[in-house]
Amino acid sequence: MAEHESLEFGKADFVLLDNVSMEEFMANLKLRFEKGRIYTYIGEVVVSVNPYRAMNIYSRDVIEQYKGRELYERPPHLFAIADAAYKAMKRRNKDTCIVISGESGAGKTEASKYIMQYIAAITNPNQRAEVERVKNMLLKSNCVLEAFGNAKTNRNDNSSRFGKYMDINFDFKGDPIGGHINNYLLEKVCIAFGKDFSCINDGADFKAVADAMKVIGFTGDEIQTVYKILATILHLGNLTFGVDGDVTLIENTKLVSVIRELLSTKEENVEKALLYRTVATGRDVIEKQHTTQEANYGRDALAKAMYERLFCWIVSRINDIIEVRNYDAKIHGKNTVIGVLDIYGFEIFQNNSFEQFCINYCNEKLQQLFIQLVLKQEQDEYQREGIPWKHIDYFNNQIIVDLVEQQHKGIFAVLDEACMNVGKVTDEVFLQGLNTKLAKHAHYTSRKLSPTDKSLEFDRDFRIRHYAGDVVYSVVGFIDKNKDTLFQDFKRLLYNSSNSVLKAMWPEGKLRITEVTKRPLTAATLFKNSMISLVENLASKEPYYVRCIKPNDVKSPLLFEHERCRHQVEYLGLLENVRVRRAGFANRQTYPRFLQRYKMISEFTWPNHDLPSDKDAVKRLLQGCGFDHDVAYGKTKVFIRTPRTLFSLEEQRAEMV
Ligand code: ADP
Ligand code: MG
Repeated sequence: MAEHESLEFGKADFVLLDNVSMEEFMANLKLRFEKGRIYTYIGEVVVSVNPYRAMNIYSRDVIEQYKGRELYERPPHLFAIADAAYKAMKRRNKDTCIVISGESGAGKTEASKYIMQYIAAITNPNQRAEVERVKNMLLKSNCVLEAFGNAKTNRNDNSSRFGKYMDINFDFKGDPIGGHINNYLLEKVCIAFGKDFSCINDGADFKAVADAMKVIGFTGDEIQTVYKILATILHLGNLTFGVDGDVTLIENTKLVSVIRELLSTKEENVEKALLYRTVATGRDVIEKQHTTQEANYGRDALAKAMYERLFCWIVSRINDIIEVRNYDAKIHGKNTVIGVLDIYGFEIFQNNSFEQFCINYCNEKLQQLFIQLVLKQEQDEYQREGIPWKHIDYFNNQIIVDLVEQQHKGIFAVLDEACMNVGKVTDEVFLQGLNTKLAKHAHYTSRKLSPTDKSLEFDRDFRIRHYAGDVVYSVVGFIDKNKDTLFQDFKRLLYNSSNSVLKAMWPEGKLRITEVTKRPLTAATLFKNSMISLVENLASKEPYYVRCIKPNDVKSPLLFEHERCRHQVEYLGLLENVRVRRAGFANRQTYPRFLQRYKMISEFTWPNHDLPSDKDAVKRLLQGCGFDHDVAYGKTKVFIRTPRTLFSLEEQRAEMV
């Protein structure tokens, strides 16, 4: 534990609680929050409570205090985790990642910024220019992505509507040489028209974003195009349709000229794309006029698709610019990364739809990774090594992950199947599919299956028992949001623009109607694939965790809403985490590796030992130092219970070398 922290601030590590119970956990969390101690450890996991006020704990001075220190030497802080990740990467040449999770508004994005700031600040001053470049790029791109990826939600004014995974690449000296961003934008976001996009709320905002883009290296043409696309989206929001007899028409035709101008296309093409769609019937190609309803639908789909495409394009341009440039660094191996994942937390709204479903599925996946890495791996290893171990019960949520993503009978599969239906393609058909395939599933129910259940108010409702609690979803909109709803005519329109930047964003517009054969992947499939590869990527790295908690819904720095916090502690699985950690060991090393590092501190092992095995030698060494009571001897590894023992060994070693 952080020794100089007085107990008046509570326990700096939940592992040190007298009893591991929800009451004690909550009492400690609350006490620390009230004393302005927003960070607390569970071993190497940082639990953070959003302070909702400026904290004086992120300055250069504080950074210096954490630089190169061991986790337990200082009060709990994000900087300590960032330092641990950096050290692991640098000393042991390991890829590491920092997973930041928690619900919307809990402080994830702020945390990721502080971590980046720390990493940028502690790297080698000899390479300042390059380091500065990469750091600036990453911070500036953060600002641009925030501007485009955020929208107001009812929980958080500045909630990220996308997940972001950022790799920072380091060379063998530990200096950052580049980065890469993956975005997990929800397809067909629920955002209604322009007014909700924070970056186009007003001109001043856009100016700041444009400046940041310029610094990153976007060309003038590119920034202009971004501006034009945003303006187009705004104008589309004002465009209305009417009817004259059986002819659908645009009411405010002046807007068409404006849009034409912005998109550098032909005026009649804009009008045609808004009012007609080209369909292939056998060998014939005909133009079918939209009803006003279809026209409205097409217009909205266009605005959303343009926004989404713009966002992805911005990310890929940023990646071009920040990617590892130094060719030498790239080919001379030893290029390691620290990944930072900032991704939307579990969401339960009044009305939950496809977006919440995807978000919550994502959180199930991350929880599963956490279980595998922290809980399961730990227990399995003790078992393997023959260390006496009391099994810790925890809820394994794999069953819910399967419920969503399993082939053929998972919810995503049922959804995709409903979308391919030749006959009726409606949300109701989808719901029927769910009810047929999942009627017996312990984590699924619906109004039809549980007619007397009060929480299922409407026929369109189904309910999932998530690891974090029950969530009722409405099927309304699932089908639309899952399908690629943009008429091909719009893709062609944008591809045929004489603005080369815009044209390049819409390569599939090249296809003529008769050439479009492949169905585009559905939103659910795209999202599922991206989640699976995200988790694979994280699993290949040494993970560090930051668990963010939101203390109240009113952004108050004073209010600790007990029930709200308790719920978060529960679904983040923090109590189980403490239990495993307490039952466990802070450190483990194979016998040869341990000897190699510490043999010089004992006369029995230096320079060589004459004992029958390395295991015996390690035993002899630890007995000699008086640490025998704090360790356990496994088949191939020695397990050290408390960090203090490890520090002590390190100190003795430092005196010898
Ligand atoms: P999330 O990304 O989890 O949705 P944010 O990181 O955007 O949440 O945090 C929401 C708001 O909470 C921020 O805009 C800020 O006002 C406040 N906040 C979060 N973390 C901190 C912090 N460490 N110090 C001060 N304020 C914070
Ligand atoms: Mg955020």
